[in-house]
Amino acid sequence: MADSTQSRSDAGEVLRRLPSVDELLEDPEIKSLASRSSRTLLASFVRAALDSVRSEVREARLAKPALEERASRANLVRDVRSRVEREERAGLVRVVNATGVVLHTGLGRAPVHRDAARTMGEIAASYCTLEIDRESGERNQRDDRVSVLFARLLECEAAIAVNNNAAATVLALSSFSRGKETILSRGELVEIGGSFRMPDVMQSAGVILREVGTTNRTRLADYRSAIGANTGLLLKVHTSNFRVQGFVEEVSPRELALLGAEAKLPSVYDLGSGLIDAPNARELDMLGDEPRVRESIASGVDAITFSGDKLLGAPQAGIVAGKRDAIARCRKNPLYRAMRLDKVSLAGLEATLELLLDGRGDEIPTRAMLALDPKELRVRAERIAARLASFANLRVDVIESTSQPGSGSAPGIFLATSAVRIVHSTRGPNALEHALRVGEPPVFARIEGGALLLDPRTLLDGDEERLLAAFEQLGA
Ligand SMILES: *Cc1c(COP(=O)(O)O)cnc(C)c1O
Repeated sequence: MADSTQSRSDAGEVLRRLPSVDELLEDPEIKSLASRSSRTLLASFVRAALDSVRSEVREARLAKPALEERASRANLVRDVRSRVEREERAGLVRVVNATGVVLHTGLGRAPVHRDAARTMGEIAASYCTLEIDRESGERNQRDDRVSVLFARLLECEAAIAVNNNAAATVLALSSFSRGKETILSRGELVEIGGSFRMPDVMQSAGVILREVGTTNRTRLADYRSAIGANTGLLLKVHTSNFRVQGFVEEVSPRELALLGAEAKLPSVYDLGSGLIDAPNARELDMLGDEPRVRESIASGVDAITFSGDKLLGAPQAGIVAGKRDAIARCRKNPLYRAMRLDKVSLAGLEATLELLLDGRGDEIPTRAMLALDPKELRVRAERIAARLASFANLRVDVIESTSQPGSGSAPGIFLATSAVRIVHSTRGPNALEHALRVGEPPVFARIEGGALLLDPRTLLDGDEERLLAAFEQLGA
């Protein structure tokens, strides 16, 4: 008891001696930060630093020397400086992805092709033919061109582009089955990326979920016997981010399409990733049985939905593609107006589709990264390792490892790679990973087996130099 009374009066004394906001703002070291921050912001950081010390001193049962250290001028200045630095690092910045996860959701999924990026920049900064037909001068639909390009690429009749695949799915559900039942297998009631849970998506689209079958086995007969007067749609969802193994049976898109035709009901297949077999481009057969967009269209379902920024390698978008009538229904849905793409994303999507149609699919960064030869990855890893070995504090070697497609594409598929393994003489792997993340340029790596790994698979042009610069700046 005596101890805590003692520390309470110590705390009071320490708090009384704390400088005021104005005093601290006059500190030469704080003043030197003024060029890096607005005056109001700097004052708010000073206030926050003082508040944080006050509450720490009040709450923590620290001995007097520790309390004084906490409330010292040097400590307050350090706190304000770190708030200024954090502010400088905030927001969207370019980073080096050395994680080996190709479609890394946290790092923005697919980086688009350079030509697509250039077009996006130009369209962003200028007027464009967003909703005007140049030939007639009349208004048209902003994704008319995208629809034509998808029709050529996928052999579908039409397509419509919205903000992401979650939106595409909601749009399709609402257009075909609003107020009615949508039949879906219990094995496909998936959750993708935390906030996309199929039952919740259905609810927000205003459709009634009618689940059939079991987690591991669903037959066509289960769908058939669930059809009734209030059925609006037959739905199939690709279980993107997990696998059920063993005693498993599912209904194919083709069977669903046939049942739909027989029962005069629309059928929709949510593919998720959108893997496209493009002319003159390498087949991405390392992705195993990940569904192919063209095959899924050919199965005869009325519409499919997939993401633009997963395996397609385009900017964030969601596509509904399929039969003309089905797409027309989606277009007429008032929700489309709230989900449609902006001119910049449309420009990037069009450019990516043109590349695929021109036989340049292998140039699309995500496709190129997925198809990288393990021997080439070894060469790159050795080269990076040799360059990093010149830093005195680093112990560097190259190990066999695996990369992942990411974003729930091709779960359970691991691609052979070589990684640069780094052990720092003073910083542990977590500290090193953090220092690289907040360093300049920022580098994201992964930690495995107690060491930091750099996977060359996901490095873009110029990233090797950026990596070196990051270690340089770190004073590694
Ligand atoms: C990724 C995915 C979605 C969500 O797509 P977003 O483009 O992230 O909105 C929906 N369904 C499936 C099957 C997916 O794999």
